[in-house]
Amino acid sequence: MFVKIASSEIPYYQFPMLEPYSSVCKHAIFTRVGGISEAPFSTFNVRYGIGDPAVNVTKNRQIMQLFFEHEFLDSSSRVLISANQTHSDHIAVLAHGEALPERNEIDDTDAFVTNRNDILLLIQVADCQPIILLDPVTKTLGMVHNGWRGALQDILGKTVSVMRDEFGVDAKDIVACIGPSIGPCCHYFTDPARELPAGFHQYIFNEKQVDFWAAAKDQLIEAGVPARQIEMSNMCTSDHVNEFYSYRRENHLTGRFGVVAGLV
Ligand SMILES: [Zn+2]
Repeated sequence: MFVKIASSEIPYYQFPMLEPYSSVCKHAIFTRVGGISEAPFSTFNVRYGIGDPAVNVTKNRQIMQLFFEHEFLDSSSRVLISANQTHSDHIAVLAHGEALPERNEIDDTDAFVTNRNDILLLIQVADCQPIILLDPVTKTLGMVHNGWRGALQDILGKTVSVMRDEFGVDAKDIVACIGPSIGPCCHYFTDPARELPAGFHQYIFNEKQVDFWAAAKDQLIEAGVPARQIEMSNMCTSDHVNEFYSYRRENHLTGRFGVVAGLV
């Protein structure tokens, strides 16, 4: 069960499956509550370039980072790394001992893999799936922005491959957590049998609905992650717009909530 921590100054959710590894990795799924943005981005939008004044986004990111560092890291400061997510299959590798990217927001990238413990990774979503991949054995962290376009490119499987190739991760050690995102209940396409390649037709039901939660789980299993180590939040953003942003439900004019994780 996805757990809400509402007693803190800023509400957030956590995955129970990561709890045994809290000495290795800290994480929080923030909501749309806690920031300073005004409607239609109210209040905790962390994405630039979607109409919310940049000054608000910067302030929200500062609030999020300071809260995370205070809540989980004894207020020690980290560098917050994000990406200008573009529904690509591009994966940034952030290796310990190497120079950090010139800008803290990496261009044209939708996933990160790292073994560093001096950074925090931010994924920004509103219906797309925010996914945390943790290998507690090698202490390697992957974070993915997995929209349906990303799913078609198997960015999840590719991220697992990068974790293996760069840091020697065995997929059977990975714990994978899929956060709030649009569920099969609300994910309609006009004509999915035409819009999606044949490999995804098994996820179409009622003619127009598609279950990308099942697709993500299958891609992880295909990549070697054991099914018992995959946790679904099972929380549909479109059904919970009071707590999360939903790009579709809110007619494409809304913010993006943040999912943050970092190795300790
Ligand atoms: Zn739904």
